[in-house]
Parts: sequence; structure tokens; C-alpha cells
Amino acid sequence: MNTIQETIAFIREIFHTNDFIPLHEPRFCGNEKKYLNDTIDSTFVSSVGAYVDKFEGMMKNITSTQKAVAVVNGTAGIQVALRLVGVNSGDEVLTQALTFVATANAIAYNGASPIFLDVDQDTMGLSPTAVSDFLEEYGELRQGGCYNKKTGKKISACLPMHTFGFPVRIEELIIICKRWKIPVVEDAAESLGSEFMGKPTGSFGQLGVFSFNGNKIVTSGGGGAIVSNSIELGEKAKYLTTTAKMPHPYEYYHDELGYNFRMPNLNAALACAQLENLDSFLEDKRNLSLQYKSFFNSQDIKFRTEMPNTKANYWLMCLELENRKDRDSFLKETNESKVMTRPIWQLMYRLPMFDYCQRDDQKNAEFLEDRIVNIPSSARK
Ligand SMILES: *Cc1c(COP(=O)(O)O)cnc(C)c1O
Repeated sequence: MNTIQETIAFIREIFHTNDFIPLHEPRFCGNEKKYLNDTIDSTFVSSVGAYVDKFEGMMKNITSTQKAVAVVNGTAGIQVALRLVGVNSGDEVLTQALTFVATANAIAYNGASPIFLDVDQDTMGLSPTAVSDFLEEYGELRQGGCYNKKTGKKISACLPMHTFGFPVRIEELIIICKRWKIPVVEDAAESLGSEFMGKPTGSFGQLGVFSFNGNKIVTSGGGGAIVSNSIELGEKAKYLTTTAKMPHPYEYYHDELGYNFRMPNLNAALACAQLENLDSFLEDKRNLSLQYKSFFNSQDIKFRTEMPNTKANYWLMCLELENRKDRDSFLKETNESKVMTRPIWQLMYRLPMFDYCQRDDQKNAEFLEDRIVNIPSSARK
């Protein structure tokens, strides 16, 4: 057997099946059906209801933040979070090119442009050195914030992403951004349950955003959450995502352009049942990572593990292969054997709508783009 065949055999062994093995499938083993039935029995299936409140309370606890707001999906959550920290049309936002397209889309939905800066090879997330180097070269502090000397535009936010649940160097990023008066929003869509120095990801920036899409560690069918340690920003997030309606027993008055980005109670019910099992999912995925680690160590294949002082949720597990050619053979052979694997994303500036964006050399991002693949990562119990 070659190494890829041995890998396929090992994955089949730990997932106990000869059938198709998906990359990440949801698991429903708690109160999901009960809570969903409650919403129907109560008639509260739509945008208000007890499960929305319960979900927001649970997310506030899990992320140790002051306020959590349920939203329709993670992308909409990032869009609103960016607007809340002051991103306006014509501005620029620092982010990584190595990410899922939603990160860059959420910037563009605000009429702003991403600036793509490199990631660190070890975290696969936005590099503090890259941000600092960029700002030293192009940043200019003026009345009202930081401006890009090259374009004359305002740099009104920084949006790092915790890739596959591995925490980015968030503390360093926040220190650098503070010096340059740039607010930080965390794209924590993939990192529910991950920690940096004992603190939950998503709780470091002015705002953090999570996703509850079907492929994430916990799902609400579709959904998201915005969290913040600023009660004022959190309340503003609720307001903007609820059509900016002024509270009144019966009058309709909206004092700015809001959105209908609310999470329906039906979805919140599913999310609550799933969150009750978050700890058990995290534990099972950690066990899976340990099994993978010892197998891949014995094969001399690089399996990604969490960095010191961080806790990863092991949402999607990663291998770092030797080069593009090895990556391509691995993807072809595993998928042909019905063991689902995927390459990391194509870098954002390769996509037509973001090819105009300013960027740095992207050495690490391009290195990882050629080598990182995801392997089956579902919680098994
Ligand atoms: C999933 C994801 C999102 C978007 O979440 P949705 O709920 O699918 O809109 C945003 N950013 C990243 C990095 C993601 O992986």
C-alpha cells in the first residue's frame, strides 16, 4: 500500500465505515426534536421567541462576553459588525487572503475594499508582522483615524479570521491595531470553543462573529451570532439587525437604514439543543485529533495541532503536504475512494471580484495554499 492508501484505510477504520465519509457532518443527539416541536406548538417559529433569547444567553456565556445577538447567518453578522465599528463606503479593511469568501464579501457589502495581508505559516491566520509592516509603510494617523498613504482612503477596521478553529495571534494584532486606531472585528465563524490564552476567540475584538451553518462545529441549519464586551455595541447590533425599529408598543418608526437579519426561533431552537452538546463535540474532536496525530506522525506526514497557549476546537483537521503535486494526488485519490477531502481555499485575490485589491507578498498564504488539505473531521459521538 502507498501512503495515501494507508491513510484512507486508517480514516475508514476510525470512522468505522466503508461508505462515503463526509468532511464534516452535523450530529443531532440531544434535544433537537423536542425544541423544534416546542416552537411549532407555541406558534413562535419566526423572528422572535424564547429560543432566540435562550440562544443569545448561551452564546454570551460560552464566549464570556457581555452581549450576544442572534443573526440570520455569519456573513450578515460580519457585515453588520464592520458597519458598527465605523466601516463606510469607500473605506478599506485589513484582512487575510487565505480565508473563505464570506470574509471578503462582508467587507464589500459595506462598499469597502479589502486589503489582503499575509498570514503566519503556523496559525494560518492574519500575521501581526504583516499588519505592522504594512502600516509602517502605508499607514498615516490623521484626525479621525488611520489612512492609507497609497490610496488616500481610510483604513477603518481589521478583520482577522481563526482558520479552521486554530486561534490567530489575536492579542498582538489588537495591540498593533490600537496603536494605529483601527478597530478589530474577529471572524470567529470557524472557531466556536477555541481559546487564546484561556479566553474564547471572538471575545478579543470590539465585536466577534460566529457561524452556525450546517458544516460548522454546531449548526442551527443556518445562522450566526455577533458577540461583544461592549453592551452599547451589542445593543446597536440587535437594533440594526432588527430593522432599526424604535421600541414602541404599536408605532412603526425606524431612525436609520436597518436590516432584517434576525435568526428565526426555529433555527435558534436547533442551535440551543446543539450548544448543549458543544463540550462533548469538542472532546470527541480532540480525541479524533489525537488519533490522527499519532497515525500521521508514524507516516511522517505533517498533521496540524494547536499552538502553545491556545486551544483549538479542531473544527476541520488539516494536513500539510510536501508540495502542490502531492496535494493534488492526495485530493484525487481520497475523493475517488469516497473519503472526502478538500484543499484550503484559493486566495481571495485570485477571484475576479477581489483581483483589484491591494496586497503584500503573500509568501506564507501561497505556501499554505499549495499544501494544506482538510480531512474528515466530524464528531463521532
Ligand atoms: C462559514 C464562514 C463564514 C460565514 O458564515 P455563514 O453562516 O455561512 O454565512 C464566514 N467566514 C468564515 C471564515 C467561514 O468559514
